[in-house]
Amino acid sequence: MIRTLPLVCSNCDNKFVPAEELYYRDNFMSNSIRDVHFICPDCIKRWKDKWRIKTAVFSEKDYVMTVSITLEDGTIYKNLDCTPLEETVVTSEEIPEEAQRRLFSIYTEWDSERKKNSLKDCTFKDEFMRTTFSCETYGGEKFNDIAFRFNMKGQIETETPVPEYVLKQIIDAYRLYEMQNKE
Ligand SMILES: [Zn+2]
Repeated sequence: MIRTLPLVCSNCDNKFVPAEELYYRDNFMSNSIRDVHFICPDCIKRWKDKWRIKTAVFSEKDYVMTVSITLEDGTIYKNLDCTPLEETVVTSEEIPEEAQRRLFSIYTEWDSERKKNSLKDCTFKDEFMRTTFSCETYGGEKFNDIAFRFNMKGQIETETPVPEYVLKQIIDAYRLYEMQNKE
């Protein structure tokens, strides 16, 4: 039986003439071609034109990553759930692939910036009356054989000045180191 199917956009309800490809929305409920939600080329073009990203601000809290996006046309999307995935960032809002890739490059910059001050490695050395650490951050900062001790107040003191963000991590790493040595 040959049937016909009028092409109507599920977004703007207009009839349309398809280009080389048909756009449609994934819909797992549809089991007939009549249930397919087509989208016309005009709506696709409008959608792609709209998604020119001006700024994107990522943040992560309790292992949930979100992004707030401002588009060139002024539209703001606040705190969209998002996941970096193979050179793209997928968000809870449906966005064109090109914009996903743009998001990924912004994400990569943000990610290396936040990791910059994190310790890549850290080792301790116990010598007679002297404990030292050597460490390096992801940003490439190195500290070699810095003697340290904990004073009466339990605060860490180092023989040469070390930035606060490094010290915090040294304290955590040293606690682990001590625990492992007790075993
Ligand atoms: Zn349309």
